[in-house]
Amino acid sequence: MPYPLNDTQRAMRQVIRDFCRNEVMPGAAERDRTGAFPAEIMRGLGELGAMGITVPDSCGGLGLDTQTQLLAIEEVARADAALASIYTAHLLALEVLVPYLNKEQKGRFIPDMASGKALGAFALTEPGSGSDIGGMDTVARRDGDAWVVSGSKTFISNAADAGTTVLFAKTDPAAGFRGISAFVLSRGTPGVSFSEPQEKLGIRSAPTHTVYFDGARVTDDRVIGELGTGGKMALSALNRARIDIAAMANGIAQRALELAVEYAAARVQFGHPIRDFQAIQLMLGQMDAELEAARLTAWWAAAEKDSGADLRRAGSIAKWVATENCGAIVDLAVQVHGGAGYMRESEIERLYRDARILRIFEGTSQIQLLGIAATLAATFDRSGEVV
Ligand SMILES: Cc1cc2nc3c(=O)[nH]c(=O)nc-3n(C[C@H](O)[C@H](O)[C@H](O)COP(=O)(O)OP(=O)(O)OC[C@H]3O[C@@H](n4cnc5c(N)ncnc54)[C@H](O)[C@@H]3O)c2cc1C
Repeated sequence: MPYPLNDTQRAMRQVIRDFCRNEVMPGAAERDRTGAFPAEIMRGLGELGAMGITVPDSCGGLGLDTQTQLLAIEEVARADAALASIYTAHLLALEVLVPYLNKEQKGRFIPDMASGKALGAFALTEPGSGSDIGGMDTVARRDGDAWVVSGSKTFISNAADAGTTVLFAKTDPAAGFRGISAFVLSRGTPGVSFSEPQEKLGIRSAPTHTVYFDGARVTDDRVIGELGTGGKMALSALNRARIDIAAMANGIAQRALELAVEYAAARVQFGHPIRDFQAIQLMLGQMDAELEAARLTAWWAAAEKDSGADLRRAGSIAKWVATENCGAIVDLAVQVHGGAGYMRESEIERLYRDARILRIFEGTSQIQLLGIAATLAATFDRSGEVV
């Protein structure tokens, strides 16, 4: 393997794996049925340090590398994809707060998030603006010594359970994308309310809500960075956090492969375990190859991130490869299970539903490919030579 794990990475993976086996896996199917938010489990992940793995130790985190974070996400997703969605939404909020808050703000907001006391949320998408974030309608207007926010956000993961929310709103609506600013809000801000959890296909115990802002007052000490740079911050945070979604995909794919291998050994047809048939072996071989390719791509992107490289290309490649491969892998795993894989009581049926979101959130597959192509246009001249 070109990316061997060091002792710290192995130890952290084992700690998270043990926790997931004992605390997460046993209730995952029941939470999928009820949609219950796993508050106790999130607290447990916080106690293990998982909520701030790459957060600098000066801010209360573990100060470890990105690959260690990917290993933790993969373990969580392997046990319960919905939990991994809650976890990665929290990490996405940190991708804005850690680089862009000033020193005083960091001390105020980040230690509670790194310890898991305050869950993070990232409020960007609106009913009228998804991929096109410059089209957002939520506005923050100056009123005396504060900003007054009006509008709504939708599909926001963790919204009603979050202690700390990163909010994007236009402070200069005429300036479009360059008029977006970012704010950090705490739980219980007057003028902020939530819809009921939205009903959805998969990751059912990871609630998303529409969030309503009706004259919510936000003081200047909650502005993140410079006014007008919120759009840039959002895109930059998404580029970095997409590697986490790749790890989530790899965890789901790992579990799908395990289930398919187990089922192929146990299921007997025509007097043989079905794993004796080449048609089944071809599917298992393809799943394994696609998973390893996705994992190595994610780890490469993690190394790029830790080296301080621009992640527009690497982040999108990692997300696109892993999430598309995961879609193919869970589909093949259902096929290996035959009719049993289509039944509500089978774990693979849940994974099939849970995996579908991966190609939509934090930028659809099409948006990833467009982003990759845009970096190529900047790198190649007209003759195709690298500039
Ligand atoms: C379960 C869930 C959780 C989510 N969590 C969050 C969250 O925590 N915070 C948050 O802010 N958002 C969140 N989202 C929103 C998510 O990021 C958006 O749904 C996603 O970015 C796509 O936006 P959209 O749904 O408006 O689709 P649209 O942007 O309307 O896209 C619809 C289709 O058009 C395609 N398309 C759009 N523009 C182009 C283009 N220029 N060229 C080619 N094709 C294009 C897309 O690829 C897609 O196929 C969540 C969504 C879901 C479903």
